[in-house]
Formats: sequence, structure tokens, C-alpha cells
Amino acid sequence: MSRLIVFSNRIPLGPNPSGGLVVAVGGAMKQRGGLWIGTRHAPDEPQRDQMQRHPDGPFERLSMALDDAEQDGYYAGYSNSVLWPLCHGRVDLLDMRPEFFNSYISVNQRLARLSAPHIQPEDIIWIHDYHLIPLAQELRQLGVSNPIGYFHHIPFPSAPNIAALSEPDLLAQWFAAYDLVGLQTARDVASCIEAFRSLGQCEMMSDGTLMHKGRRIRVEGFPVGIHAQSFRTLAENNPAPRVLTASDQVLAIGVDRLDYSKGLPHKLRGLREYFRRNPESSTRLSLLQIASPTRESVSAYQDIRDELEGLSGEVNGDYGDIGYTPIQYIHRAVAREKVAGLFRASRIGLVTPLADGMNLVAKEYVAAQDPADPGVLVLSRFAGAAEQLECGAIMVNPHDPANVASGMEQALQMPLEERKARHARMWAVLDANGVDWWSDMFLQRLQTDRPSRWMLDNQIVA
Ligand code: ADP
Repeated sequence: MSRLIVFSNRIPLGPNPSGGLVVAVGGAMKQRGGLWIGTRHAPDEPQRDQMQRHPDGPFERLSMALDDAEQDGYYAGYSNSVLWPLCHGRVDLLDMRPEFFNSYISVNQRLARLSAPHIQPEDIIWIHDYHLIPLAQELRQLGVSNPIGYFHHIPFPSAPNIAALSEPDLLAQWFAAYDLVGLQTARDVASCIEAFRSLGQCEMMSDGTLMHKGRRIRVEGFPVGIHAQSFRTLAENNPAPRVLTASDQVLAIGVDRLDYSKGLPHKLRGLREYFRRNPESSTRLSLLQIASPTRESVSAYQDIRDELEGLSGEVNGDYGDIGYTPIQYIHRAVAREKVAGLFRASRIGLVTPLADGMNLVAKEYVAAQDPADPGVLVLSRFAGAAEQLECGAIMVNPHDPANVASGMEQALQMPLEERKARHARMWAVLDANGVDWWSDMFLQRLQTDRPSRWMLDNQIVA
């Protein structure tokens, strides 16, 4: 079996590296033997032209140090102030500067140059993260002809949004260097094909692939999953504190990074509408919103915190009472096992992104529930998870507070039998499409169905 080389923006460090992607590809790495390559912000490290080896982990790891200028230009700049807002439909937030673009390209070039000597002819390569989209093209230019796949964890941008870039043709060119491009949902696959076609950058082939200047691009959907059973066990073993499960109170939970794509103000406006419509309700609903700080160096992230704190203060002032706080807002990350227990204790999981590649929180909330008395997932139709979970979730439009409020009312009134039936349908999806299924599917497609072979001069042989 071929060795697997994984690239991601951040290298998972420590002897027991953790994080979603480690769980997702760790199994495949163990099975095949693997090498993980990524970047590390290390401004004081003088060695720019060498990779650092990280021994004592479950797999071989190499990292490339980034200095402050690269952290600003490649990471906070082009990746998180251009590509992230672009892919999440926020062209109003695009911060396009030549130095961001140049840094993005030069980091990808250096990573390719330092990595190429470590790649052996039989290896297969899997690149993750929008930070590294041009990496395959850079590796191809250095003569790397191995199978290379890319997984885009976030939504695919629409054609009009791509047209807002100063280099709108590059995305198709970068994608064309891959053998397989994986997206989260059927909706993303459709918008990718439509965008490249309508921008005149690709031709659609009869087999469903795209052709870009003689190179074939295979774009397919692989919805990323979770280890549902282990998350359920984690939730069972970590019960929430009693104070949160008092009998006169019903808990709703939200767990998000404090990102403008997550629809946090929309969530609170929906809740405010719920309280406005149900002032005398005997059910004392309380939202526990955990919102962890993220990318605080990017200016678009600074306002959202003020907006959220203003809104939660307003709702608490208007609808709170002595001994009752409608919104408990925590601005920090909370340990994973605690989150699991809190999910299980919550009657409603409230997930309201305006755009989201998948949204693993929605899946974790479902996995954490007690099947004999499960809570209800209230889910934005704009989350990638909606395609798989609409079989059991209450679907809402986060832009419309009245619709979110109705979703909350429906969730609170739902009889036990219906809650159980909805949960069972969602559980079946999660159980059958776990994270091992996801990585196996992707790697199998990458290895066995290569549409064409890369030659050293970058010409395709069918
Ligand atoms: P994203 O990758 O955009 O942050 P996801 O919902 O797909 O969104 O994944 C987020 C992951 O991070 C989940 O595993 C979730 O449990 C965890 N997470 C998000 N916010 C927090 C938080 N405030 N505290 C602890 N864990 C969090």
C-alpha cells in the first residue's frame, strides 16, 4: 500500500497530536505509514530553508517555519482576508493587497521546494486547507507526478464572487494540477462546476469531469464525518454540571468559533424573537453560547464580538429575571469532553451559520444525545451538514429571526416519539458515514480512478 503524505496549513504538534484532521486521517496514516507536512509560525527561527523534523509522534512530521511577514501575508492576509470571506460569500470583507497574494504564492512555492525531496515515487499526496490550494501546481513544476488530491473543507465560492478576485483565472488553474478535488457537499460540487463553466475557465466533459486547458479536473463530494460512537461515549462519561440541568430550565446550546460566517448575531436575534413571542412561557429557555476567540488579528473579526455582547446584554436585560439568565455567553474554548456532556444535557442544539463547509458541531450534537430522550437539532439550511441531517433536524433560515423562533418553538413542543425518530434517522447517517469512511472513500478514489497521468513536462497522457 502506498505511503500517504498529508499536507495541512498547521502541523499537528506534540507526542499525541489532536484535532479534527488528525482524527480524520490518522487511521489511514497508521495503516499506510505516513508523513505529515505543514507550517508553523516561528518568527525567531533563523532557518528559513530547512524543514524541522518532529520526532516521537504517531507518524513522521516535518514543518516549515513562517516568519511574521508570512504570518501576516500568507495566513492572516490572503488565506483569511481573501479566500475565507470569498468562500463564505462575504465579498464585502475582501481585503485584496498585492503583498498578501505574493506572500501566499511564495509560501506555497517554498513549501513545495522543501517538500519535494521527501516525496518518493510510490507516495500518494493529500493536501488539505485553502491555505495550500496552489501547492500541487508548485509541486508539478518541480517534477512531482504522484497522485495528488485536495480537500476543500469550506464552501466553494460562486461565480460572481470568484469574478471579484484580482486574479479570477487562477483558481481553476490551481485546481487543474490535482487528480481529485474533494468538496463537502453536492451543492458545492454543483457550484464549482457551474462557476468554472460560466466563467469560461473550464469545459464540462460527458463523464462529469471538467477540462481546463487540456487538463482534466475531477470534482466530487465527500462529506466529512465524525467518530459518532466515540463522541457518544465521551458525552455519556462527562455529565454536565447539575446547575445547568435544573428542572425548571430548558437548555439550548451553541458552540462556535467567533467567526462572522457562523451567524451568531442571527442566532441571538432569532432567540430574541422567540422570547418576544413567548413572554409568559412556563418553560424557561436558556441558551448557553460558547464562542471561542479566533483570528483576532484580522480586522473583520473585531466587530463581531462587540455585536454579540451587545445583543446578549440586551436580551438578558429585557427577558432575564432574578435567578434566570436567558443567554449565558462564554468567550473562550471549552474542553472537548465538557462540550460533549453539555450537548447531551441540552434540549436544543442551535446551529445557525450563514455559510459553512460542513459544521461538525451539528454532527457532534446529534452524536452526543441519549437515544432514549434525545434533544432536537435546529440547523441552518446553509450548513453543509444540512444535506445529510435534514432527515431529522428542524431546518431554519438564520436570516429570518421569525423562522428561527418558530424552529425553537417546534423543537420545544416536539413529543418524545418524534424526537426519537428524528434522532434515529440522523444517527444512522452519522454512523454509516463516519470519518474513516470519508478518508477511505477519498483515498480510494484518488488512487484507483486517476483520470490521467501526470508527465514531468506537465502534459497529460490519457
Ligand atoms: P470550524 O471548523 O469552522 O470551526 P466546525 O463546526 O466544523 O467549524 O468544527 C469546529 C470544531 O471545533 C468542533 O469539533 C467543535 O466541537 C470545536 N469547537 C468549536 N468551538 C468551540 C469552542 N468554543 N470550545 C470548544 N470546542 C469548540
